Amino acid sequence: MGDRAGLDLEHGHLVVVGGGLATVRVVTTLRRKKFRGPVTVLCAEQDAAYDRPPLSKDVLAGDADTAPLPFDVTKLEVDLRLGTRAAALRSTPDGGTVVTEAGEEIAYDALLLATGAEPVRLPGDGEQLTLRTLPEALALRERLTPGARVVIIGASWIGAEVATAAHRAGCEVTCVEYGPQPLAGALGAEVGAATLPWWAGITLLTDTAVARVESDGVHLADGRVLPADLVVTGVGVRPDLAWLAGSGLATGRGILTDDRCRTNLPGVLAVGDVAQRWSERTGAHRLIEHWDDASMVATAAVASLLTPDAGPSYDPVPYFWSDQFGRKLQYVGAHEDGDDVEVRLGDDGSLARAAWSRDGVLTAWLGVDATKDVVKARAAVGGPASAVD
Ligand SMILES: Cc1cc2nc3c(=O)[nH]c(=O)nc-3n(C[C@H](O)[C@H](O)[C@H](O)COP(=O)(O)OP(=O)(O)OC[C@H]3O[C@@H](n4cnc5c(N)ncnc54)[C@H](O)[C@@H]3O)c2cc1C
Repeated sequence: MGDRAGLDLEHGHLVVVGGGLATVRVVTTLRRKKFRGPVTVLCAEQDAAYDRPPLSKDVLAGDADTAPLPFDVTKLEVDLRLGTRAAALRSTPDGGTVVTEAGEEIAYDALLLATGAEPVRLPGDGEQLTLRTLPEALALRERLTPGARVVIIGASWIGAEVATAAHRAGCEVTCVEYGPQPLAGALGAEVGAATLPWWAGITLLTDTAVARVESDGVHLADGRVLPADLVVTGVGVRPDLAWLAGSGLATGRGILTDDRCRTNLPGVLAVGDVAQRWSERTGAHRLIEHWDDASMVATAAVASLLTPDAGPSYDPVPYFWSDQFGRKLQYVGAHEDGDDVEVRLGDDGSLARAAWSRDGVLTAWLGVDATKDVVKARAAVGGPASAVD
């Protein structure tokens, strides 16, 4: 952000685009730091802030109907505009303006971009359900009825969690995966293969490419058609950067920031799933896309808002979890292709632990139902691989 004064504690106007987890955490922390200026939050969704991980877990399972995040906009004196999408950004050296889809121009002294990411869709005119929002989760749950033919595209995190719920609901579940094993894109084929026993009762087609989704079902690249009552596409997410075109903001796959959440534009920060933040630890800009990162970034982001050139670096060892097939997976660190991996199976012959290392240095660790070991493993990343079991 260069040399510039921080947000004036009494009168500075913070505009936030996005009303999810990262926004809730930053705004709440900012108020705690005695910031009294106006805060305007623009959120494309109609629902007040809620937590997304339960959508594919408790909400799909029918154990909850929502998971609100604590965000008392009256007490925090936040002008929350639900159903308001930002459509353009004009930056100036002293601030700038956000233009909404309806054409309203909102001037800011500082701007926080926390717009998350959008599910990727596949070609074709057939209906594809995705799972990012609460209405999407409720609509999907409605249709997970006994005997329904559900085709899930993608056997990664969302695919596995949806498969868990659909199988439990008595659906006839087929999951199509481009890679050689479930979770292979995220964890590699060897670790993914160790999760295969969990998929019992589900038709899992690996090494299988989808060409398009049409009204008669899922068309595979080899010409087969999988008939379906519903198709769920879970092939990853991508930040929507189209509305920022022409703003001068530096982007890659996400919005590029330094390790203090600052973009190349004065007064503009980016946090959460949309941010591709510089990591000194790994020597790269990284899109993290995990709950823990979006939640814990607040302290660094607020410091950068108030004292732009003196805030702390935010470069934690990443952490995420997934609940699937009655198990909790927890992963810490960040492995790269080519790292050595050691896989340990449990008594049931399926994945229990995995540890990645490079030149004897632990790069990542994954445990299944091993919550008590996570803190130790997270602290061990970057040290000798022999430090963890
Ligand atoms: C179903 C599901 C399950 C998950 N499970 C896990 C898990 O088990 N473990 C884990 O670590 N992480 C999980 N995650 C990821 C985690 O929820 C995200 O990392 C986190 O929500 C990111 O928060 P965010 O504030 O950056 O973005 P979001 O929570 O996505 O919020 C972004 C908000 O910005 C709004 N927005 C977008 N564009 C605009 C615009 N132009 N104008 C105005 N508003 C806009 C969006 O509508 C949205 O409300 C899961 C995510 C999903 C969807």
